[in-house]
Amino acid sequence: MTEIMLYNTRSRTKERFEPIDHMNVRMYVCGPTVYDRAHIGNARPALVFDALFRLLRFVYGEDHVTYVRNFTDVDDKINARAAETGRPIHEITAETIRWYVEDMAELGVLDPTETPYATAYVPQMVAMIGRLIEKGHAYEAEGHVLFRVSSFPDYGSLSGRTVDDMIAGARVEIAPYKDSPMDFVLWKPSHEELPGWESPWGRGRPGWHIECSAMALELLGTTFDIHGGGNDLTFPHHENEIAQSMCAHPQGGFARVWMHNEMLQVEGRKMAKSAGNFHTVRDLLDEGIPGEVIRLVFLSTHYRKPMDWSEQKRREAEATLRKWYGQAMHAEDAERPPPAVVRALANDLNTAGALTELHRLSRANRADELRAGLRLLGLMGNEVPVWVKRTRISGDARVLVERLLKERADARAARDFVRADILRDGFAAAGLIVRDTPDGAVWEASDSFDPTKLEALR
Ligand code: AMP
Ligand code: ZN
Repeated sequence: MTEIMLYNTRSRTKERFEPIDHMNVRMYVCGPTVYDRAHIGNARPALVFDALFRLLRFVYGEDHVTYVRNFTDVDDKINARAAETGRPIHEITAETIRWYVEDMAELGVLDPTETPYATAYVPQMVAMIGRLIEKGHAYEAEGHVLFRVSSFPDYGSLSGRTVDDMIAGARVEIAPYKDSPMDFVLWKPSHEELPGWESPWGRGRPGWHIECSAMALELLGTTFDIHGGGNDLTFPHHENEIAQSMCAHPQGGFARVWMHNEMLQVEGRKMAKSAGNFHTVRDLLDEGIPGEVIRLVFLSTHYRKPMDWSEQKRREAEATLRKWYGQAMHAEDAERPPPAVVRALANDLNTAGALTELHRLSRANRADELRAGLRLLGLMGNEVPVWVKRTRISGDARVLVERLLKERADARAARDFVRADILRDGFAAAGLIVRDTPDGAVWEASDSFDPTKLEALR
């Protein structure tokens, strides 16, 4: 069996991965909070853990991996969006979840085994909070329930911070009802207009962290193999998940391996709406960038390195895929994926190394293995994507086409029908399909498009 090595954030070393149960390898990844389109940073954990899911399925068998990725559909950001827009919450969350599923599918992300909605697990959260109060790890104050951080001596062990460091960090919220500023919210009161559930502490809603602890317990049990997410979640979210789960079920152990992807940037800068470099996944797809190209760009960087999205990478990835698909299109699947590709992935998910292997196979024209490697990486289904078959048109040819179309429109306007007809016939001879629409001419290159024939029309 393939030996998998994974970097564990908790031990800060690469460890040999040994599943608790080979027949059911279990992984939990924190999913999106659903109030807006996923940006391309949000696509990174989805793609990274999809690559891991595919590797685990290959090694342990398709039916022997349980992958849970949640939807956070109760959150104050969602409530704020509803208040701003006047739209009902469930409409916003349902629409955003649908978008997310569609966008990720276009990137070749497989559906996880389970995609629980937090709102469907509130009774389990209430039960876990009750247990924490009983065991002296949580207390009620002014309609809130808070986790008492001082009751869990291991707090901070995942991120390697001391409680003092954490207090010094800006992210702890000071509130009058807290015994200590480090204590975090498990439950908070909801006034009438906000989503709320009945509980022993009055009508209210869960804090964010308790969601993941309760859903992981329900769907994966007290101990499971891998927990993942972006490294912005290490503290406080994952520290808090560990504190809750370990205190509610001390014999369990919660997640054994913690994996975190690094952040994504755009053209070397932090992505932000204010910086004008903010892209949703849908923006890129709508610009005509194929999902496979986006996927390849992401896989080119190891998940523990900061990653840059750039126009140059997009261009290179598209050219690479055109070449690879051209070779793999008519090949048969090799019986097994190339061992060197599997080895790279099994070495802490070295997707960049796996792609280096594909380049090598491509150069050696080993099309069957190339095809099997592309499949393992989720870059190739049964069919070659249609965009590959579309004739590629260089920027120069594009400019020339646009200029000649404008010339034809001008000729028509000037009633120079001789010139207009010469251009029309010339387009047809060059394999350019032109359609006149109320909004002007639209064009497309046919398979036989030959830009040199347009030159004669200049
Ligand atoms: P959120 O919906 O903000 O909770 O984020 C969903 C997932 O996206 C989490 O795993 C985050 O860590 C991850 N994430 C958010 N921003 C980025 C980014 N710029 N780069 C990589 N991952 C990110
Ligand atoms: Zn989580």
